[in-house]
Amino acid sequence: MRRTTLQAAGRIALCAALLGGGLLGWGCSPKPAAVDAARLMAADKRPGDWMSTGRTYDEARFSPLNKINADNVGTLGLAWYADLDSNRGQEATPVVVDGVIYVSTAWSMVKAYDGRTGKLIWAYDPAVPKDKSVNACCDAVNRGVAVWKGKVYVGTLDGRLVALDAANGKPVWSVQTTDPSKPYTITGAPRVIKDKVIIGNGGAEFGVRGYVSAYDAATGKQLWRFYTVPGDPAKGPDHQASDPIMAKAAKTWTGKWWTLGGGGTVWDAMAYDPELNLLYIGVGNGSPWNQHYRSPQGGDNWLLSSMVALNPDTGEYVWHYQTTPGETWDYTATQHMILADLTIGGKPRKVIMQAPKNGFFYVLDRKTGELLSAKNFVAINWATGVDMKTGRPIENPDSRYYNTGKTWNANPGPSGAHSWHPMAFSPKTGLVYIPAQEIPFPYTPDNDFKPSSRGFNVGVDFGAGELPQIPEVKAAVKATLKGALIAWDPVNQKEVWRAQYAGPWNGGVLATAGDLVFQGNAAGAFQAFRADTGAKLWSMPVQTGVVAAPMTYTVDGEQYVAVLAGWGGVYALAPGELSFKSGKVPNISRLLVFKLGGKAKLPPAPPEMDIPLDPPPATAAPAVVAQGQALYARFCGVCHGDAAVSGGLVPDLRHSATLADPANFNDILLNGQRKLNGMATFKGALEPAQVDAIRAYLISRANADKLAAAAKPAGQSPQ
Ligand code: CA
Repeated sequence: MRRTTLQAAGRIALCAALLGGGLLGWGCSPKPAAVDAARLMAADKRPGDWMSTGRTYDEARFSPLNKINADNVGTLGLAWYADLDSNRGQEATPVVVDGVIYVSTAWSMVKAYDGRTGKLIWAYDPAVPKDKSVNACCDAVNRGVAVWKGKVYVGTLDGRLVALDAANGKPVWSVQTTDPSKPYTITGAPRVIKDKVIIGNGGAEFGVRGYVSAYDAATGKQLWRFYTVPGDPAKGPDHQASDPIMAKAAKTWTGKWWTLGGGGTVWDAMAYDPELNLLYIGVGNGSPWNQHYRSPQGGDNWLLSSMVALNPDTGEYVWHYQTTPGETWDYTATQHMILADLTIGGKPRKVIMQAPKNGFFYVLDRKTGELLSAKNFVAINWATGVDMKTGRPIENPDSRYYNTGKTWNANPGPSGAHSWHPMAFSPKTGLVYIPAQEIPFPYTPDNDFKPSSRGFNVGVDFGAGELPQIPEVKAAVKATLKGALIAWDPVNQKEVWRAQYAGPWNGGVLATAGDLVFQGNAAGAFQAFRADTGAKLWSMPVQTGVVAAPMTYTVDGEQYVAVLAGWGGVYALAPGELSFKSGKVPNISRLLVFKLGGKAKLPPAPPEMDIPLDPPPATAAPAVVAQGQALYARFCGVCHGDAAVSGGLVPDLRHSATLADPANFNDILLNGQRKLNGMATFKGALEPAQVDAIRAYLISRANADKLAAAAKPAGQSPQ
């Protein structure tokens, strides 16, 4: 026995030497992705690895590595890059174990690279049907993998949880975690706790009921499930871990919410405290958004928009804190949660921190859920503060648009004051770095709301919120769009510094012991700031918008910084031309890896194509165009862009050759002719006459923009 242990230790030492020398080989023990609880909890002893999406269970996204630091970051350069075989938004943080990078990309694909050379080791494609993207509110993205005991886990857009052999990328097991007949998706990274893979899902824009599940990491057997909103009372309890709390939660709902799903999806953030043995999940918005339809007599609607603590062994409820009772604005609390030990009022406190969409920065006691403080980190108008006695927001009554029947010009809007883009917390500075934004939105109740089998089901009239085609109004709306990297003092709840950007939807954040904060942005640059002052120390143009968070690792003693580049996500789709606020960036999806003195060069950026509009003449009656406008806003705009202007990820329909070919246009919308390209059929949701009206609207918009372009001096596009 002892001899075997010694032999094993010898092999590990030999392996470490081989790995240290960059001589990667799979014959070498330890096996690839050899991560377990002991190793992950001792992550700071081997800071060259990044073994979980947020690096550690506390999700601080802080690396103790400091070879790249505030003194030398000016010499940072590209070490290598890898082109990706997908051109949708890239939102994942790579994971690195023993010098191997494991990363997911758009369409839930996974790749493994040699961290030193960039050599592709394997690639896995779950072959997600492309038309499944119709059920993804916010692009065909994936936010990362988990690794555990030789396996790599990924959640797929069509709701599967797949375990891959880390040595070769071959599936070991796969389970369907959702009802495929319902509009569920998975975009979030799994976490592994005590040999259980924890995974949530999305779909609360369409009409689903949220939950999180645990699967046996070795076999894929489902171990527990926790629902976040109550189900149909007539069906009785779910016989799941959430039953006791759901019985209480049902008292906070009214009407027939279950017929519309209810929402509360757990589509992104989780954290884990091994000492308290608590798993924290962030719960999303109501489905539909408009509470009048979801829960007509009001109510807090537990557990929407809440941070929830669960026992990871059983999935049992421990506590929750609801950031937005009776939510009606898509104010999810799925945003990044960070665990830290802070001194507050002279006392050490174990806290959980979150900056959810609603604009408040929350600090809670993570053992009990007690609210310690809350302060808005950007300008907001839906509430004036949080009542520390009740823990509830002090709402502006005008913000409940379904009560007033009027448009509520809200800040934040549904994109949030902070969305999924990970923050970072540096224990050195004591600051949380928030990718913050201001994207106001006019909520207008949809008085005619009927759930549909296709498109958003939110009970808000998107047509009423369409950007008016009046230059002065456009300019005024664009001026309200803001983005900043904010360094926030969580103890004193105040801003310490900020890096102001031209617009919103900038990247996730990495903080390091090298006194640095790294962030990519919507203008196509990757940058480093001094963690204490915010001074910009380094910047490199990367040809595309960066929304994902960077990470850092070492191989052979050399420190690298890696980030997935590739513009995308909801802000590259739904807002149309407003998504160009920071400049018009293409999606060029790549894994970029930097080191000090790196000399690699990106190939020249492709030239920007400015294709003139060439629509058929607009002949439809104004009433038909108006009908088409409303239908476009309801069914098409969230992907193809507000006011028929595409953000660039999906076809700009003003340019479509099918505008002059009604039969072909109908075939695409109603018969799934371009299903394989990602265009789902809207059969059952739209009638042929409605499809004609949408086409008439697009022709009208294309002609209007063609005229506007002709009226402008050369070189200026209407966008
Ligand atoms: Ca949402």
